[in-house]
Amino acid sequence: MRYVIAVGANLGEAALVVGHALDTLAERLNGDLVARSSLYRTAPVGGPEQPDFINAVAIVDSNLEPPEILAHLQAMESESGRVRDVRWGPRTLDLDVIVAGDVVSDDPELTIPHPRAHERAFVLMPWLEIDPLAKLPGIGEIRTIVDAGFIDQDIAVVES
Ligand code: ATP
Ligand code: CA
Ligand code: CA
Repeated sequence: MRYVIAVGANLGEAALVVGHALDTLAERLNGDLVARSSLYRTAPVGGPEQPDFINAVAIVDSNLEPPEILAHLQAMESESGRVRDVRWGPRTLDLDVIVAGDVVSDDPELTIPHPRAHERAFVLMPWLEIDPLAKLPGIGEIRTIVDAGFIDQDIAVVES
């Protein structure tokens, strides 16, 4: 199954943490890396006042089932030193499942597609970079959402 995974961090060496997550993601998910985006710097949306985020998106093919994927992502978050406290607060690493094949699920433990992905430039822009034909099951083409222009967030590619 093809997974789209969003990666974010805004504490410590965020660019290094996101880069390391992208380097190790496919192996951790027992799969193959299809594509990884550039790193993007984005202003935080919601939550308390906090540093800018570094965000990226990766596409991985894996035979693992979605709950196993989530467990591996959460293990990677813990290893990065993430402490779960404030929702939408700062974090050393956040790994979200955006899409899992064409699975649609409203399970609160793992909602697929990610219920807020379509309103987040920091998910849509990196994803579009690596898959111009990207679609959110049940919602539509990412290109159409971005072109509609109602997502107003500061986002820029991090020069490497
Ligand atoms: P958001 O989901 O709005 O991006 P967040 O990433 O800050 O917020 P977390 O604190 O990282 O939220 O996760 C809260 C819970 O969300 C997790 O315990 C997890 O079970 C659940 N969850 C539901 N759907 C997903 C998904 N698609 N990907 C990752 N976690 C999910
Ligand atoms: Ca998130
Ligand atoms: Ca999360």
